[in-house]
Amino acid sequence: MSDCLFCKIIAGEIPSSKVYEDDVCLAFHDIDPQAPTHFLVIPKTHIGSVAEVTEDNAAAVAHMLTVIARQCKKLGLDSYRVVSNIGAQAGQSVPHLHFHVLAGRDMTWPPG
Ligand code: AMP
Ligand code: ZN
Repeated sequence: MSDCLFCKIIAGEIPSSKVYEDDVCLAFHDIDPQAPTHFLVIPKTHIGSVAEVTEDNAAAVAHMLTVIARQCKKLGLDSYRVVSNIGAQAGQSVPHLHFHVLAGRDMTWPPG
């Protein structure tokens, strides 16, 4: 999608601090970290949000979760939070599916 910030990061048109990359997804540090560890995992194919997950793209989403599990294990994290905001009221500011991975501090529940 030409006008999408995260598609531009995938295309290399906007720089990112890369954590992990493969054919299906990219992980990079959030530019405005909300915890000592805060990175985002995004699919390389544009999906607007979890609301656009279908049987056709679910394999990519499942793969992203395996990447999160592996990456967190690699970082020695045994407690972390995975968040995906859907829509403006929930706080989604970039309309390209992303999982936030947050760790390294005590967290509260419910989230604000
Ligand atoms: P959300 O508000 O849930 O849609 O999450 C979007 C996230 O993208 C926010 O946490 C932003 O800080 C982050 N973000 C926005 N622009 C960039 C960028 N150029 N590089 C890294 N993270 C970004
Ligand atoms: Zn996109």
